[in-house]
Formats: sequence, structure tokens, C-alpha cells
Amino acid sequence: MKDPEKAKAALLLAETSLAGALDNPALALRVTVQNNPRARRVSLRVDPFNGCVVLVRPPRVSDRAVAAFVTSRQGWISKHIEALPARVVFSDGAMIPFRGQEHVVRFRAKAGGDRPPLDESRAFTARGGERPPPDESRAFTARGSVWREDSEGQPVIVVAGRPEHLPRRLRDWLKAEARSALTPPVYAMARALDVKMPRVSVRDTRSRWGSCSRDGKLSFSWRLILAPASVLTYVAAHEVAHLKHMNHGPGFWRTVAHLLDARLLDAHLLNESPGNFLGANLDWASAREWLRRSGAALHRYG
Ligand SMILES: [Zn+2]
Repeated sequence: MKDPEKAKAALLLAETSLAGALDNPALALRVTVQNNPRARRVSLRVDPFNGCVVLVRPPRVSDRAVAAFVTSRQGWISKHIEALPARVVFSDGAMIPFRGQEHVVRFRAKAGGDRPPLDESRAFTARGGERPPPDESRAFTARGSVWREDSEGQPVIVVAGRPEHLPRRLRDWLKAEARSALTPPVYAMARALDVKMPRVSVRDTRSRWGSCSRDGKLSFSWRLILAPASVLTYVAAHEVAHLKHMNHGPGFWRTVAHLLDARLLDAHLLNESPGNFLGANLDWASAREWLRRSGAALHRYG
């Protein structure tokens, strides 16, 4: 979610008195200046979510000092801006990954009568134990307005309805899909650890793929549905393991590895083959590596 407060505070470098600090004026349009009263020094960071470089400016540093810093970092700035992946807007013909597989998005004004059944979440049946908490998701997707199909070997996500609603509808659908992909493994793993059933929420988090609050609420980025299935399952295991260990110590990682054991998942997921959740031979190290390498690129969709 965008933080309006922050968006208001951040100005493009081109709009500030520092505009001349970069030789290339086009670059100044991709750098935002963020005044941060708690910052100790001037610094730069890449913001893949907004496709820009952020200049963090502490109080009481002169314009001249900041401009000199920016000028000295021109090479770094241009290199990182060039490396930023282009935004993919949700539109007809856009290519987006879904569970790691490229799909083409097709907008249709009306749902056809011969539409195939929606490829939707499997009903999750709890095998005894504590009942999962009620669904907290606010995203509502009209059933049947978005579905997946295959067009001569090319996977397609079809979005039906009024054209102006299509991007939001696709986003809501992806969120709902993320939720239904995350909850079965989360509940199964929580049961395996014998911890209280966590509440699960799915949102658009910028900096984290998942988080676990002290009172046992798990929150995930809907963008995990774009990643390969094994990555989503790893993040689920990571957050569930935090219900037991609020740290990243050896015990925590042993728990993650335990939770990702296919036999354990097999024993706890009804009507599901672990293959649906785990890539072959999922190990957390490779899923983590995938997020490190490719995770930022997931922020360019929508
Ligand atoms: Zn963690």
C-alpha cells in the first residue's frame, strides 16, 4: 500500500534546488528526495516498488553538501536506474507470471457462455484440531469474472467485465489466489508445530514478503502468487516457524526445514499432493536465493 504521507514528503530531485546536481536531467526524474529527520548521513537506495532511486536526506546538511554527494554518485545512480525492470501495467496483452509461469492477460468485455470452470482454490478441509480463524480477507472477487485458460499452449488469465474495472479485478483475483494458496500450507504447518492457528492476511507489503506479529498474526505479500510455488511455500514455512521462534537462530531454521518436509505436508494436507505446494526437492536455501535475486522484480506488476 502506498503511504500518502511519505509520497507527499518525497519530491523528485528534478523539482528541488538540487536539480542541477546530475548532468543527465532525465535521471533527476527517477530520483526522489526523502527528508528523514532521523537519518544521520546522506544515502541512496533503490526502490524497486516505485522504480526509482531514493535519496535520503538528514536534517541540517547543506544543499551544497547534498549536491556534491549526488554528483559524486552519478555513475551509481544511472547504473541502478538502468537495471530497474520496466513496470508492467495490468492491461490487455500484458505478460505476468502466475505461480512462476508466464501468462498473457486478456481483457474481455463479457464473460462468454462457454467459459471453462474457474481454476479456483481447492476447498481446504481441516483434519480435526483447532478450527482455522475466520477469513480476514477484504478482497472480494466476483466469482467467474477472472479465470485461467490455455490457448494453444499459452497460459492465459482472462479478465471479464467493464474495461475500467479490469485492472482492479485482476489485482483482487491475484490477492484472493495468493490467499487460497497460502492458507492450506500455513494451517497445515501450524498444526504440525502444534501452535495456535494464526490469522492470515494478504496485502501489498513493500519491503517484506511475510511477517509474523507477536500476537500470532501472519501477513503476506499478494505478490508471492507471482513467484514459483516453492517460493510461496517457503515464505509460509518461514512465517509459521516464527510462531515458535521469534528469531533467525539455528532452531528457527531447523523448524523451517522440518516444515518443508514433503512427508510432513503430505500427512497434514487432505486432498492435496505436496507437489502442488513444493517444487521438486524444495530446499529453503534455494527459495530464499530466488527471492533475493528475483523478488524485487515482482513489484513491477500492476
Ligand atoms: Zn524471519
